[in-house]
Amino acid sequence: MAVAVPMGEATRRFTSAPRKLLIDGEWRESASGKTFDTYDPATGTVLASVAEGDAQDVDLAVGAARRALEDGPWARLTPSERGRIVHRVGDLIMEHADELAELETLDNGKPKAVALAADVPLAADLFWYMAGWATKLNGGTISPSVPYMPGAEFHAYTLREPVGVVGQIIPWNFPLLMAAWKLGPALATGCTVVLKPAEQTPLSALRLGELLLEAGVPAGVVNIVPGFGETAGAALAGHERVDKVAFTGSTEVGKLIARTATGNLKRVSLELGGKSPNIVFSDADVDAAIAGAAQGIFFNQGEVCSAGSRLYVQEDQFDRVVEGLSDAAKSIRVGHGLDPETEMGPLVSQEQFDRVTRYLAIGEQEGNRATVGGAAVDGDGWFVQPTVLVDAEPDHTIVREEIFGPVIAAMPFSDLDDLARQANDSHYGLAAGVWTRDISKAHKLAKKIKAGTVHVNAYHVFSAELPFGGYKQSGWGREMGEEVLSNYLETKSVIVGL
Ligand code: ADP
Repeated sequence: MAVAVPMGEATRRFTSAPRKLLIDGEWRESASGKTFDTYDPATGTVLASVAEGDAQDVDLAVGAARRALEDGPWARLTPSERGRIVHRVGDLIMEHADELAELETLDNGKPKAVALAADVPLAADLFWYMAGWATKLNGGTISPSVPYMPGAEFHAYTLREPVGVVGQIIPWNFPLLMAAWKLGPALATGCTVVLKPAEQTPLSALRLGELLLEAGVPAGVVNIVPGFGETAGAALAGHERVDKVAFTGSTEVGKLIARTATGNLKRVSLELGGKSPNIVFSDADVDAAIAGAAQGIFFNQGEVCSAGSRLYVQEDQFDRVVEGLSDAAKSIRVGHGLDPETEMGPLVSQEQFDRVTRYLAIGEQEGNRATVGGAAVDGDGWFVQPTVLVDAEPDHTIVREEIFGPVIAAMPFSDLDDLARQANDSHYGLAAGVWTRDISKAHKLAKKIKAGTVHVNAYHVFSAELPFGGYKQSGWGREMGEEVLSNYLETKSVIVGL
C-alpha cells in the first residue's frame, strides 16, 4: 500500500540520521558500535537506523542513573520544581504532537489520526497528572502503641522516598504512551531511570528523550537504551544496581523478568497480557454494544493488552450482534497510517504478522468459522483483515490464547448463573466489558469479574487518573492513578522516643 501522504519535515529529519542512545544527558553510539534497523510495517521497508545497546550500555546507563540519584541536582530540587519539569514534558509533547504522531505511525503502523487523538494527548496528560503528585507524596503521623514498653511515649511518622534507580522495559503497541506511563510516575516520585524501548519501535521514545532534556530533566535522570530483549532487556532486569524493574509486555517475558529480578530482589511491577471478555446482554443498547465490541477488538489493530477478544452475547441477540460486528469489520478502511482515510494500519512486524496468521490457521483447523476476514491482506506490509470468528468453544486455542491482533471470538451464552465463571475462565484478568441497561446486573457482574478494569456500556477507556493493571497472570501492580506511585516509593517509619 503506497504512502498517500509524505512524512513531515521534522519526521524526515529525525528518521534520516542514525539515532543514538541517551546516557548521562548525551547522545552516544553503542559501546559495541552496533546498530539495528527499524521498519515501516505498512511497507516492510527500513525506516531508520538505531544504535543497539547491550549489557555494556545498560551498565553505563545504570551508573549514570545512580550518580544522578545520589549526587546530581535531581534529589536537591524541591518537589514543586520537579513537578514543574514533569509538567513541561507534557507541554512539549503537545507542542510536537504532529511529529510524535507521525513517528508512531511510521514505526508502529497505527493510523496517524488515532495517534493524534489518543496516544499523544494521553501521553501528555499522564505527565500533567503525575506532575501534581510530586508535591503530594506525604507520609503520615502516628502515635504508636508499644505493649512491651508500658508508659513510654513516641512520636512517629512515615516518609515516602523514591525507590531509586528504575529499569523500565516497554512494548511496541503504544510506544510513546508506554514510555509516558513508565516515566511519569518515576519522575514525579524522584527516581532515576534506564528505559529500554521495544526493538520494533524505539523512535518516539528517543524523540521524547530530547524533549525530556529540553524540559529540564537533569543529565542521567532518564537514560534511554534501545536494544533487544534478550540482551539489553535481560541485562537491565538482572542488574544488581537497579532497585526496581517495571515491565509491560507478554506474560511469557514477564515471568522471565520476575525470575531474573530475584538476584538482588529488586521490586518488580508487571503489566502483561490479556484475553478480556466483552459481555452483551439482550437488554443492552445492542447497537452501542456492537460498536463497543468492534472498538474493543479493532482499536490499534487489536494490538492492545486489554482488547475485548472474547465476545459473549446472550443467545437471542447473538446473530444480530455477529452480523453488526461483521459489518463494522468490513467497513474498516485498512491502509497506510499516514493516509488520513485509514482506520486500521498493519501489524507491527513480520513476527507479529506470522503469529496472528498462525492463530487464524489454528482456528480454521479447530473448526472456527470467519464471518468476515480470516486472512492476511494481499500486497506489501504486514496487514491482516479485521476478523470475527464464530463456532468457538471454551477450550479452543483462539478462545484461550492472546492473539494480539484484530481477531475476535464470538460465543453465545444462555446460562446467566454460569456467566461469571465463563468470563473468568482464563489465566488472564486484565479487563472486561459488560453491556446492559440493568444497573443491578451490571454492578453485580462487575464485582464478580476478576479483572483490573471492568467497563460498563463502554470499552477502552483509559485515563491517567484510573489505575490500570491485571489480576492473575495479567500482572503485578497497577499503572497510572494514585496507585502507581506505590510502585516507585519506599515507606520509611521514623520513631522518636519522647
Ligand atoms: P512481544 O512478544 O509482544 O514482542 P515482549 O514481551 O517480547 O512482547 O516484548 C516487550 C518488551 O520486552 C520489549 O522491549 C522486549 O525487547 C523486551 N524483552 C523481550 N524479551 C526479554 C527478556 N528476556 N528480558 C528482558 N526484556 C525482554
